[in-house]
Amino acid sequence: MNWRERGACRFEDPELFFPLGEGVLSLRQIEQARAVCRRCPVLRECRAFALRNSEYDGVWGGMTAGERRVAARSRSEDRRR
Ligand code: SF4
Repeated sequence: MNWRERGACRFEDPELFFPLGEGVLSLRQIEQARAVCRRCPVLRECRAFALRNSEYDGVWGGMTAGERRVAARSRSEDRRR
């Protein structure tokens, strides 16, 4: 079975995971999405997929797009050292 078929978000409104931004107005929505991710059995797989595929939008594996960009930049800098 594919990890996507085991995600806790399969029972949620997909729009919850795609806030319009990461500003103050979206914080509540992001936290609600993260709460679902925290109880998800495939959080690691989902996060790794989003990082590997540079997903530009949405909450994946409990991380926002901005957090993934920071993580990717940090990994890229670590590789250059
Ligand atoms: S970690 Fe979050 S976005 Fe990823 S499959 Fe699980 S609930 Fe869905």
